[in-house]
Amino acid sequence: MTKAKKEEALQKLEEMYPEAKAELVFSNPYEMLVATMLSAQCTDKQVNKVTSAVFERWPDANAMAGATEEELYPLVKSCGFKSKAGNIIAACRIIRDEHDGRVPDSMEALTALPGFGRKTANVVLYNAFGIPAFAVDTHVFRVSNRIGLCKADTVEETERQMTKLIRREKWGNAHHWLIWHGRRLCKAQRPLCETCGLKDLCDAAKTGRF
Ligand code: SF4
Repeated sequence: MTKAKKEEALQKLEEMYPEAKAELVFSNPYEMLVATMLSAQCTDKQVNKVTSAVFERWPDANAMAGATEEELYPLVKSCGFKSKAGNIIAACRIIRDEHDGRVPDSMEALTALPGFGRKTANVVLYNAFGIPAFAVDTHVFRVSNRIGLCKADTVEETERQMTKLIRREKWGNAHHWLIWHGRRLCKAQRPLCETCGLKDLCDAAKTGRF
């Protein structure tokens, strides 16, 4: 796909999803951090069902640092692994002890927290702090490569190519356009190409290789 076609596809995505934003419910960086950690391999909808009770009981990182896994896990069990509860508490202890109780706003400090990789750090940097970041989750990886916006075998390479293609101030928005497109139309198993506004541009639709 030529650069001009890639830009046209991005423009189309922006027009299709002008309202795209995080679907996790949060009101501060601590809540974003906890919700993001719970969302690994779990839907945002499910995470949103449990977080209000969690935030009511432990309203900030200092409070969460005092929780035990036995107290937290029953409230977040429906979001998956027990290790998520342990990682949330361990991350909040580091935030209490090393960052004065405030969620850090750098890639280096976030990826030093347990349970945090580059993707989760990028999600928190953009959504909680408004820092330009392009997080590559399963939807972003699949959709970017299917359309032909990049050609990459790994999430790291996808991030590298996409951040070269997209203007820095649009990184966060583009991440959300691609997630919304992946959830609504460009689904993993059965992409709805017939109703997709990108079908005349998309590499996968043209070649039949998904
Ligand atoms: S045409 Fe099909 S494969 Fe291409 S972006 Fe749309 S839904 Fe996805």
